[in-house]
Amino acid sequence: MFDLEGSPFQTSQTGRVADKVALVLGGGVINRGWGIGKATSYRLASEGARVAVADINRPAAEETAAVIRAAGGEAVALKVDVTEGQQVEEAVLRTVAEFGALDILVNNVGIAITESIADISDENWDRVMNTNLRSMFLSMRAVAPHMLERKSGSIVNISSIASLLYLGIPYVSYATSKAAVNHLTRYVALDYAEDGVRANVVVPGLMKTPRIEQHLVRNYGSFEGGLQQRGQLPPMARMGEPWDIAEAVLFLASDEAKYITGTLLPVDGGMHVQGVARVGQNRPE
Ligand code: NDP
Repeated sequence: MFDLEGSPFQTSQTGRVADKVALVLGGGVINRGWGIGKATSYRLASEGARVAVADINRPAAEETAAVIRAAGGEAVALKVDVTEGQQVEEAVLRTVAEFGALDILVNNVGIAITESIADISDENWDRVMNTNLRSMFLSMRAVAPHMLERKSGSIVNISSIASLLYLGIPYVSYATSKAAVNHLTRYVALDYAEDGVRANVVVPGLMKTPRIEQHLVRNYGSFEGGLQQRGQLPPMARMGEPWDIAEAVLFLASDEAKYITGTLLPVDGGMHVQGVARVGQNRPE
């Protein structure tokens, strides 16, 4: 399985996002190791941010916060279902109460259900849209007043290469929700372009995260076989690491990106340039 233990970063109180407060929704990780939200939470903290780690899975959020604190950073864990407006509002208020501000919002939660249009149920369609898209509307609406009041803030939403390319698997609900995330983010970016609030999208390609381990076994028959086949698809001939996404989020969240808003930043080893990718072409039927 993936080597997902350990982190290459030390924490610093004088880093690239020192004095900033971040709320990372979906900051836990299934099972063990590093997912995108956990790596992002840790990376922001390693550059000086105080981080509220929110997740529907409380132990997962607490684990991420504990890892940050053990490394000398500042973090709190919150249990939040991002599809519930009241819980999202409360998470924002608790973050502000705990740390005195909210400068960075990272929307990392996303789920995929593989069904084509003829098969997908009303419930599954709504579940994907609520989890991937409505959650971002809810959280951006909740943070906007705080950021607008201070005329400062950076929102980074996590999309997917499926929002740009056909991947050869029945991802119609997932791909549609992520494409809407891209446009929602760009719209918010321009609504607030003169107000000091930036909004950008990171578009992950094929990443090595713990959740993908199950996907590889299920869709390719074995973990090693799936790793090998999936790894051949990006032009860079390998899958990405959660840390690759964390670096992109850190940059967009920081003042280094102060003139960047409304951007889609693919972190995908070049897949978006190459075009059609048949991730699912070798799936057993
Ligand atoms: P995970 O699938 O590990 O999810 C991160 C966390 O979000 C998990 O702890 C999960 O909890 C939690 N979560 C799920 N539903 C909710 C909810 N309703 N409210 C609050 N938290 C919730 O993350 P990944 O690192 O695999 O992916 C992160 C993002 O990157 C997603 O948006 C995904 O679509 C996107 N992405 C990932 C790619 C990849 O290859 N991994 C490729 C392209 C995009 P639980 O485990 O209990 O469900």
